[in-house]
Amino acid sequence: MPDAFSNRHDLAVVGGGIFGLSIAYRALKEGLSVVVLEKDHIGAGASGGVLGALMPHMPARWNPKKEFQFQSLMRLEAFIQGLEAETGLSTGYGRCGRILPLTTQDKFDHHLERAAEADERWQPLKTGFTYQVEAQGSRADWLSPKAAPFGIVYETLAGRVAPRAYLAALAAFVREHGTLIEGACFEAFDEATGAITGKGIASALAAGRLVLASGPESFDHLKSLTGEMIGRGEKGQALIMEGAGLEDLPAIYCDGLYVVPHDDGTVAIGSTSDRDFVDSAVDPVRTEELIRRATAFCPRLEGRKVLSVWAGIRPRCNKRDALVGNVPGHERVFVATGGFKISYGIAHLIADALVAELTGSTPAVDLPPSYRPGFHFKR
Ligand SMILES: Cc1cc2nc3c(=O)[nH]c(=O)nc-3n(C[C@H](O)[C@H](O)[C@H](O)COP(=O)(O)OP(=O)(O)OC[C@H]3O[C@@H](n4cnc5c(N)ncnc54)[C@H](O)[C@@H]3O)c2cc1C
Repeated sequence: MPDAFSNRHDLAVVGGGIFGLSIAYRALKEGLSVVVLEKDHIGAGASGGVLGALMPHMPARWNPKKEFQFQSLMRLEAFIQGLEAETGLSTGYGRCGRILPLTTQDKFDHHLERAAEADERWQPLKTGFTYQVEAQGSRADWLSPKAAPFGIVYETLAGRVAPRAYLAALAAFVREHGTLIEGACFEAFDEATGAITGKGIASALAAGRLVLASGPESFDHLKSLTGEMIGRGEKGQALIMEGAGLEDLPAIYCDGLYVVPHDDGTVAIGSTSDRDFVDSAVDPVRTEELIRRATAFCPRLEGRKVLSVWAGIRPRCNKRDALVGNVPGHERVFVATGGFKISYGIAHLIADALVAELTGSTPAVDLPPSYRPGFHFKR
């Protein structure tokens, strides 16, 4: 019988953010035919931001989630090299390392224990990644010693990427090898026929399987499919300043904020977190707060020109961890969302694991149990 759909794909991905594009990229490399549907434009959601911090969990109380994030960060460099070679585009990736201030004797002692645990978990002799406690006054030209009266931690696993450049490279690959439709707002998927409907979507579009990677809006889609509201959005704001001369410095995490120097002569500062919000508009009060707090611990930021300010809505599962896998009760529908504050570091391994599930192959690294639907949904 002839197919009623002239435009049928193995896989449709809803959402042109870091999760959706990473999944599309991986699926295309596995030989699937893929269409990405983005209601607005690439990076219209949280992924279109400016901070780009790629930070590991602390090496204490190790668990499968920390192992997954560790493996993700370790493997990201090779992944990025491949993507940049394939597309000829730079992602602004760099292994910048990170400084954390130690503000009490207790914290100093505690981080000595973490450094010992990092020796076991990070295996510095094999991986080259170190986690060291350094004396007060160390790296004082970057993090104010006043902010770190008991010394600092300096670790070398943390990295940074330019979020929009990373997205652009993934999108370039997807455009070349698959189909990427912007201005296509997904509404429904008929699992029996594969028909996909929505605004800006031609009537002949169909797919064998669907992945929801629509950021915070995934939660509304999931509610209509399962009756359960398992997450929500959380607003955040960040900014970039002129950062000439700071390019080779490590990221700092202090007072709940990241300062991340980028290789294009800018430095990013973020982020705020607001559970209650009206929209994703920039709040000037938050902008002032970011500048004031960051310059307090990082005096070299003082007087630098603010180049742009950006706010977005992060997808956050109620149980905090990301959600990846088959939607309960819907054999052909899958989801990848809830990366919250760490999506950029883990997206490539999330994509690898989800596509392995779709194709029945073995993932490079197993997803932690807390990322699986059984952890997030009641049924
Ligand atoms: C201020 C701030 C700073 C951050 N800093 C970092 C950081 O330093 N490091 C890090 O790793 N993470 C960071 N994050 C978090 C990270 O940006 C997000 O977790 C990540 O971008 C989420 O990616 P996503 O692909 O799941 O969702 P999104 O980027 O939101 O993408 C979802 C896409 O789906 C589209 N969409 C929605 N509904 C539909 C529909 N019906 N049909 C078609 N398309 C649809 C949207 O337009 C959007 O483009 C930050 C977030 C914020 C807000």
